[in-house]
Amino acid sequence: MQANNHPIRRVVIAGGGTAGWMAAAALSRTMGKILDITLVESDEIGTVGVGEATIPSMITFHDLLQLNESEFMAATQATFKLGISFENWRNVGEDYIHSFGTTGTDHWTAGFQHFWLKARARRLAGDYGDYCRELKAAQMDRFAHLPDQGMNYAYHLDAGLYARYLRKFSEALGVRRVEGRIVQVGQDAQSGFIRSLTLDGGAQIEGDLFIDCSGFRSLLLGQTMGVEFEDWSHLLFCDSALAVQTGSTGVVPPYTRAIAHHAGWQWRIPLQHRVGNGLVYSSRYLDDEEARRMLLSNLAGEPLMEPRPIRFKPGQRRQTWRGNCVAIGLASGFLEPIESTSIHLIQRSLIRLLQMFPSAGICQTDIDEFNQQTAHEVAHIRDFIILHYHVTNRDDSPFWRACRELELPPSLRHRISHFRETGRVFRVPNELFAENSWVQVMLGQGIEPERYHQIADMMGDAELTQFLRNISGSVEAVVRQLPRHQDYLRRYCPAP
Ligand code: FAD
Repeated sequence: MQANNHPIRRVVIAGGGTAGWMAAAALSRTMGKILDITLVESDEIGTVGVGEATIPSMITFHDLLQLNESEFMAATQATFKLGISFENWRNVGEDYIHSFGTTGTDHWTAGFQHFWLKARARRLAGDYGDYCRELKAAQMDRFAHLPDQGMNYAYHLDAGLYARYLRKFSEALGVRRVEGRIVQVGQDAQSGFIRSLTLDGGAQIEGDLFIDCSGFRSLLLGQTMGVEFEDWSHLLFCDSALAVQTGSTGVVPPYTRAIAHHAGWQWRIPLQHRVGNGLVYSSRYLDDEEARRMLLSNLAGEPLMEPRPIRFKPGQRRQTWRGNCVAIGLASGFLEPIESTSIHLIQRSLIRLLQMFPSAGICQTDIDEFNQQTAHEVAHIRDFIILHYHVTNRDDSPFWRACRELELPPSLRHRISHFRETGRVFRVPNELFAENSWVQVMLGQGIEPERYHQIADMMGDAELTQFLRNISGSVEAVVRQLPRHQDYLRRYCPAP
């Protein structure tokens, strides 16, 4: 596969799920005046139909698109999300929240957890979450925007409506949509570059750069360019899901629920008009019929459809850009949905592609840089996800025992040991999850650090108590004044 100096003017996006329409929106908003953008999708094939919980980076993406937030939220039946409630993960009957906020106040030598660990040892501290505004707001079912982005949040949204919303947005900026099933992908015999897509009716769509958003099929990058898939089934055991929508129960918490069961977990994603539910499980430890029964017997509202099965293999393509083909979304890989990172990775790939856009021709150094950045980012997220399964007291089923025994990647093994021995955790630049995410999940899953940084000993008991009281007091004062999440939604972005 060679690089070349052929200028890139015609971009063809294969697939119109969340990835395809996010790609169309980002490209048309940023470079629409100088690119000719076509998106091909097949209504007959449809989309994966899940992917409704997001993380705060979506706000940055929407800022780049210059979307109006309340209009976008109304159009997609969206609600606010302040974090994820992990239930039954450490022990059955116990829960914790991984919130999007910051907890307490750090010292430059040591994170807040060191002060909290000392105070807890001396019985002077409340729960770790008492010092985080977003977490308390989630627990108390409150939400409002605060000045200076004082509330760190994301969204729950209807994936089908989101794609429709972005389609309208992109078409208004000149993106051409073509309906049809891609039956053949034409390649240049010498370079291996993709030259055209042939549709079932015989139409041919030619392009200079092809973005593969064809979902798990990975029609262009995997099937045509032959980029291998790196299988991580030995690290992530869940490979199946059942998704079902239920009617709204009238309760709209500002967080996602992730409820562990004996061979995986169940999600609940509250939208304005309905609730998204699903069971994620390992087919090695739970058969499909039992999974179906479990899901249907654990729903809060009335099911609006039959549960839809989805199979996946956790892992990533060894390269996500080869030649003139870049895969984005499920076509590039998928881990699992526990931390809602997949849409975030779509955004990251798009931003990266726009930063390295090969207008004057494709450079291998760009491709190498793109692939290396992507691989690093995905490996970091993979580690964070494994943490949830591996660090647990649960040993009540073969699934959890296998999770506890799995051989960790060295990068994660180091992070866990470092935190356990010292209470410290460091974020490497460009990693998604910051220190506070690691601390919340590591404490939440049951790691007890053996020490804390001695800087905390600079405060005596009285000073430490006052320090913590000031933080929890100001958290409470802010949260008490917030409206109920549902009331705020009704005022700010009521869906039709
Ligand atoms: P798809 O939605 O599958 O779209 C593929 C597109 O390609 C479709 O338009 C299809 O018609 C088209 N296509 C395919 N073949 C052809 C062909 N031959 N001709 C023409 N068109 C074709 N992510 C999150 O961020 N948060 C979550 O909460 C979350 N939950 C998830 C839960 C589960 C169980 C799973 C499996 C995934 C979840 N994800 C989540 C991931 C998320 O769903 C995807 O990242 C997102 O929907 C993007 O999917 P996609 O556009 O890549 O693929």
